[in-house]
Amino acid sequence: MTRYARVIVDVAHSDVDRLFDYILPDGMEAVPGMRLRIPFGHRMREGYLLEIRNETDVPQDKLKQVSAVIDPEPVILPHLVDLARFIARKYHCTMAEALRLMIPAQMRGERVKAREQAILRLAVPRDEALEESEKIRKKAKRQSELLCLLAEKGEYPRAALPQEMAGAVLPLLRKGLIQSENRREHRRPYVESALAGSIPDKLTGTQKLCLDRILSGMGRGGRFLLHGVTGSGKTEVYLQAAQKALDKGLGVIILVPEISLTPQMTARILSRFGDQVAVLHSRLSAGERYDQWCLLREGKARVAVGARSAIFAPVENLGLIVIDEEHESSYSSEHTPRYRASEVAEELSRMSGAALVLGSATPSVLTYHRALEGELELLSMPMRVGTAKQPSVTVVDMRRELAMGNRGVLSGAMVEGLRSCFARGEQAVLFLNRRGFAGFVSCRACGEVIRCEHCDISMTYHRSVNLLQCHYCGASRPLPKVCPSCGSRSIALFGDGTEKLEAQLASLFPDIRVLRMDADTTRTKNSHEQILSAFARGEAQILIGTQMITKGLDFERVTMVGVVAADLSLFHGDGLGTERTFQLICQVCGRAGRGELPGTAVIQTYVPNHYVIRCAARNEYEAFYRREMQERQARLLPPFVRVMRLILSGEDEDAVLEDLTYFRSEAEKALENIPEKYVNEVQDSLILLEGMKAPAERIRGFYRYQLLCRAKEGRGAEILERLFSRLEECAPPRSSHAALEINPNTMI
Ligand code: ADP
Ligand code: ZN
Ligand code: ZN
Repeated sequence: MTRYARVIVDVAHSDVDRLFDYILPDGMEAVPGMRLRIPFGHRMREGYLLEIRNETDVPQDKLKQVSAVIDPEPVILPHLVDLARFIARKYHCTMAEALRLMIPAQMRGERVKAREQAILRLAVPRDEALEESEKIRKKAKRQSELLCLLAEKGEYPRAALPQEMAGAVLPLLRKGLIQSENRREHRRPYVESALAGSIPDKLTGTQKLCLDRILSGMGRGGRFLLHGVTGSGKTEVYLQAAQKALDKGLGVIILVPEISLTPQMTARILSRFGDQVAVLHSRLSAGERYDQWCLLREGKARVAVGARSAIFAPVENLGLIVIDEEHESSYSSEHTPRYRASEVAEELSRMSGAALVLGSATPSVLTYHRALEGELELLSMPMRVGTAKQPSVTVVDMRRELAMGNRGVLSGAMVEGLRSCFARGEQAVLFLNRRGFAGFVSCRACGEVIRCEHCDISMTYHRSVNLLQCHYCGASRPLPKVCPSCGSRSIALFGDGTEKLEAQLASLFPDIRVLRMDADTTRTKNSHEQILSAFARGEAQILIGTQMITKGLDFERVTMVGVVAADLSLFHGDGLGTERTFQLICQVCGRAGRGELPGTAVIQTYVPNHYVIRCAARNEYEAFYRREMQERQARLLPPFVRVMRLILSGEDEDAVLEDLTYFRSEAEKALENIPEKYVNEVQDSLILLEGMKAPAERIRGFYRYQLLCRAKEGRGAEILERLFSRLEECAPPRSSHAALEINPNTMI
């Protein structure tokens, strides 16, 4: 009987986003999950075999034959095919695009090869070999030595032989005295082990309770939010849950925001589970990444650790999925398919029964909201482990510093804190967030931030037009010369910093060694690890850096942390700056006093009474959450509304503007078509804004414009989703790049 292969062709175009039937020639062995080579159009293509059937609807004369099978084993596990279907549906991409997520990019087009290693061993009994060695000692010294070596070691990699012995291999092979076997070798990435830490003797009561709940969810798809302050022992809970899963013969996936920023976490997992771990991340070489993936696919490793794409790791019989620091924006993909790792993980947990644990000291407001609504089980760990205490926090009002004549970057309290920290021989971390594309404008005398009259959201300065703009409603106004609140002329663009900071540190503490960690100092592979290890070894007393230093660091000797400019991210024009700033400050402060030594933190701000600063300084998550929800309700932000955002970008600004006009009119048309009976409801609950410049007007030479639409939950949100689907089908006439998203994590 003829067999037909049903294939997704590896071409990411919606016109061919369906199954194609091919004849599977007699004797060609293939099973679903393998890739095939197939004729398509006028070319040969790769395709994913999803099904084999005995019949087809395609007329016989239209059918072509499969040319070849590419993989000896299926590369896509059955459950990952299902997951790809989910991704294609949920994130509106083609099946080919979704399936591509499931294999290492390097595998497509066969660009990497497995690396094999030749292993030499004796082909005759040991005694016989030694006898022969003795016999030929005079006339073939090298051969004699090689026989001795193999008799002693049992086996030896050919590539590792001393150079002078290399010539002895062939003659001995020919004589049948030794044999060579090719063995698959897995390249293992470099890991700094100084960061690993030790295993505690026993769990605290709270840890045990949380662990038990998680274990009870294993096998039935339990979903948990593990909310624990920094240092409460969350990681230990993940690790022990993972151990239990392995004991039961189940696999584990652990996601971390970015491997290179969290070397300690990786080191702890590796030191605990050793060879059972495969690490997947973008900084590995193509070969390393492929090898790590193979370890999982072949079942030789059962724990996958990696950034967001590791959610697609080929782990069979999944028992546990952990997403550490679940609030991190890096869990959302910025490329098509624009998936969110946590949503994919939920589906995976539903499909496999694996327990899902989202962990954070500062969960995203939306996740916490879902936990309170009962969609996730909330597990709380409010105390640090052992004697470690939360650091004592000082909030410094920078307006008063200015009034007292201090025009420097560092306040008196910060300098004092550093001085006494260095005097005790301990270490300090200074955090300066200088990222951000467009700045907000504030008054250095009274702290006032220029806000939109309509939205109470800070306005963003756009240099190109010399105007302030509101990114919520699009309103704009010129830059004021004096502060509208106090009349001071000290009104300025916020944002200068690092150079001034370094200069001030150098003049205050000439003998202190400083390490800097930011985008400029971490371009090369392993540079994060190198900087952090140098700091761990005490080679510098102070580490200054951007966001990068806020995560996962756990150094016993760090007793002082400083937030140089807490406000820098607070008034971000997308209305989400409050949450991000709260998270940042809590994370940074959590770096101090994690060991025996007590910690202190100094937060510098122009708005000391802002709820974000107050709650973060006291480490009060619930208080922050309640207030933030009130603000969001008042300002119409998620979870109370849904926001749809279309970003158009391109090198030709006029073309982008034309496309923007086109999309805007398509959106209007779509909204005119809504059923009569909803019109009134929609008028109150759905707002389509004029197109406007994106907060980051230009990135890498691309002009960026955005179109926003907001709708209240309920009917409005329903219509918003419909509008989304409608716009998705539109092709920009001038072919700008279009990216459409609902409730985006960031709005730059
Ligand atoms: P988190 O992930 O919440 O920041 P960790 O799991 O890293 O917390 O724990 C913080 C510190 O406490 C680590 O140094 C860890 O080794 C230690 N620790 C965790 N659990 C225990 C325990 N049960 N007993 C003793 N020390 C522990
Ligand atoms: Zn003022
Ligand atoms: Zn506005």
